[in-house]
Formats: sequence, C-alpha cells, structure tokens
Amino acid sequence: MSFVADFNSLPLAALARKSIATGSAAAREAVGKTRISLADFAGLISPAAGGLLETMGRRAHALTQQRFGKTIRLFAPLYLSNECVNNCAYCGFSRDNPILRVTLSIDEVRREAAELQSQGFRNLLLVAGEHPKFVSNNYLRDCIAALHAGWPSLSLEVGPMETEDYRPLVAAGADGLVVYQETYDRTVYATMHTAGPKRNFDWRLETPERAYAAGFRRLGIAPLYGLADWRYEALSVAAHAEYLLRHCWKAQLTISLPRLRPCAGEFEPLTNISDRELAQLICALRLMFPDVGIVLSTREEPRLRDGLIPLGVTMMSAGARTEPGGYTGAGREKIHHTERGIIKELASGASEWAPQSHRPTNATGQFNVGDERSPQEVAGLIRKLGYEPVWKDWDAALTM
Ligand code: SF4
Repeated sequence: MSFVADFNSLPLAALARKSIATGSAAAREAVGKTRISLADFAGLISPAAGGLLETMGRRAHALTQQRFGKTIRLFAPLYLSNECVNNCAYCGFSRDNPILRVTLSIDEVRREAAELQSQGFRNLLLVAGEHPKFVSNNYLRDCIAALHAGWPSLSLEVGPMETEDYRPLVAAGADGLVVYQETYDRTVYATMHTAGPKRNFDWRLETPERAYAAGFRRLGIAPLYGLADWRYEALSVAAHAEYLLRHCWKAQLTISLPRLRPCAGEFEPLTNISDRELAQLICALRLMFPDVGIVLSTREEPRLRDGLIPLGVTMMSAGARTEPGGYTGAGREKIHHTERGIIKELASGASEWAPQSHRPTNATGQFNVGDERSPQEVAGLIRKLGYEPVWKDWDAALTM
C-alpha cells in the first residue's frame, strides 16, 4: 500500500473543477474553517477565495507565527553534478541538451561547502542530476561522509532510489530528502519525460515513502508549477502531504513552490500561476497544514520573495548557484560535453548555453535564478521584516 493507491482513487480533477466553480459564500465558509479537508482546500484556492486573500493572509500569518515563531530557516543548494540520463523537457540538465557538464570531485565538493559555510550556512541541500555512472550511490555516500562533521543538516535532491540504496546515505549523515513529482498529471508527465528512468511516474511518487523507510527524518515534496493546471497540482500535493503526515509521521515535511524558470533548452511554461495566486496558495497550504514547512527558493524575484515571507514561508534559499562549482569555480578544468554517457572534450566556446561571464565556473546551470542577492543581503532583509534568519536549526549531538 502506498500513496499511489490513494492518488489513483482521489477525485483530484473533479476537485480542481469544483474549485473553479466555488461561489463566494462557499469560499468564505472554507476560509473560516479551522480544520481543512481536501474539499475545503479546493475552496481556499478558488478564484472566489482570491478576493479574500487579506483574510487568508492574516490567518496564515498568525498560524505560522504560532507554530514557527518569527524565524526563517536559510539553506543553500550545492550542485554536485549536472550529468543526467533523463530527458525532462523543462530542465537545462536534460540528457539531449549540449550543455557544459561537470561532476565535482570530493575535494571540490569540500571547497564549495567551505565557501558556503564561510557565508554562514549550516543547512545544505546536495543536488545532482540522475546519472548512475557519474553520480553513483558510492559517490553520493562519499560526498555526504566528507561533509557530515561540519554540517548539522544535509539534505539530498538526487535521482530516486530503492530503500536499501538510501540506507548508506542516511548512515553517512544525510537527514533530508527532497523529491519533486514535477507534475501530478500523468498525461503531462508522460509528455515531459521522454527518456530515462524518470518516465516511471509511480516509482517517483513513492519515493518519499522509500526515503522515510530508510530513515530520512526530513521529507520535501512539490510539483513544478508551469506544467499542468496549478489548482490540480496544488490539490495533488496537498493530498500527498496529508498522506505523508499520516504514514510518515516521524518525519518533518516541507512543501516547496517552484515555478518554472528560463533554462537551457528554452522550454516555455505550459500553464501559469500568477504572483497573487502563488500568495493565495501559500496561505491555503498554511491553513490546511499549520505545522508543515513551506519553502521558497531563489527562483522568485526579490520583491515577491520579501512580500511572501509574512504569509507562511518558513524556509528560503539564498545566494544560490545552480551549476556545479558555482560558488568557487571548482571543477572548471574538467568541463565537457557528454554524449551517451561518454565525455567529449570541449572545443572552446562550444556551447550556446555557457553561463554569464560573471559566474566563476563554466558549467551550465539548471535554470536562471530570480533572486541574485547575497545570503547576507537576504538575511538582512529578513531581520528588517522582524524575523530571525536561522542558519542552523538542528544538531544531531542533542538527540543522543
Ligand atoms: S529535472 Fe532532474 S532528472 Fe530531469 S533532466 Fe533535470 S536533473 Fe535530470
């Protein structure tokens, strides 16, 4: 039994239609409730409830302060590798994109992490494309082991694995796993993922459960907004969160709200969620899940990020680079193209997707970030809004 069975039986498409048709009285009723069902959530994300955003915002703000205090946890992504065997139409790292690629050595990973630590971070998200040859389980384990002593919190965003393959990563010191379903719409999923193991929708959907069984104590989920109807995606991720809270209850759950950004391959979003709708969605998620962490990345522009903080966001990235070696230039000498798993030497200036010149490395990033402020600037802004930026929120030593 897994979420797949629940997912297949839930009337998510019907709820998305019901959401659109919600009248103002029903929207007001949903906004006033203290316990939110999935049907109520459809009301909260309805166009009618969009007119009640101020009320929703006030309630979401109060709930967030009650459960999390006036704090924002900060983290940084560290890209280990941009090699990938999958073709995901919306991603710069897609196998068929002739981008500039590299996989960092363990020493280079240490250098990147040391730079992030000097900026203040103690919470790291290790990110890699899915490539069994370059990003093997042993490689990931060695990266984690190399960083574990200096990093109180290490999470992974890498290709899904079997429970047994996750266990050595947890033993080496990883405590969190982030896996975006990308889209919960099976038809759109099939058209977006045309090659590689990621084509298996159900396998991906069950990943948080396998990670939990292996001992991860933080789980992160999300759709990528811009592929399918946002209300359907929001209902699906809410249903997924509800399931995980029931079945993986010892883990801390976070929900992210990534919107598509420009990237190599120049994929255009298929659907749109406006800034205002994004704010409404954050409020709706907070009202339904008072204790779930809500993550906002540097995909969004500074003004919007600043404005969304008081509504329910609890965790933000800052100063993020989306290419391996992006913080120090590590791995620069090894940049190459990859064709069918074989490294091809680089003719100079050989990619139209080489990064902007101010970047310290030549590898191509996964997407262009929207907020290029430094971590210190972001932390300063958080303080200015009356919140405390939290760099370190966990110490394994305290649990012994
Ligand atoms: S989204 Fe992930 S799996 Fe797909 S191409 Fe990008 S890195 Fe690879």
